[in-house]
Amino acid sequence: MTKPRRARTHDPERARSRDLEAELMAVYRDVEAAYSGYSCPGSTECCRFGITGREPYVTSIELLVMRRAIARRGGQLPEKRRALPMVPRERDDERTCSMLDYTGRCSIYDARPLGCRTFWCHRADTGPTAVERDVLGAFVRRIQELAVRHEHDGERGRPLTRALVD
Ligand code: SF4
Repeated sequence: MTKPRRARTHDPERARSRDLEAELMAVYRDVEAAYSGYSCPGSTECCRFGITGREPYVTSIELLVMRRAIARRGGQLPEKRRALPMVPRERDDERTCSMLDYTGRCSIYDARPLGCRTFWCHRADTGPTAVERDVLGAFVRRIQELAVRHEHDGERGRPLTRALVD
């Protein structure tokens, strides 16, 4: 005899969070479309904050999506699996993002934050049409609006490396 199914309890907070995540992914899709003409040699240097001298800032809702992706793949990468060395490993000032996997790819690519999607180094080819600053600004504002709805002060971006350890 089959057991009767337990009725699902409706969790409004969870549903709200899911809706915001879906809205964020819609913004990301628009970002991808805007930058679809861009390409780069994929050196992964942009994921080594000691080389670029900068790192992405993440809002609360972006961080939530990243954390879910990290959890799905079983946690952060162990130190020894991080990244292909671009400079000798004895130099530990690369500050390689812990999401960069040992093949040199972002292990949470679909969930990477806006800063990762819109940072292009000098070697990138922008194609025939570069994305204007106001277009980028509009993406930033859309995500900040979602982050405010997600969490008090959620729109205040925090450096990725600090946000992930908090
Ligand atoms: S989250 Fe992914 S794309 Fe962004 S810096 Fe880290 S490895 Fe690179």
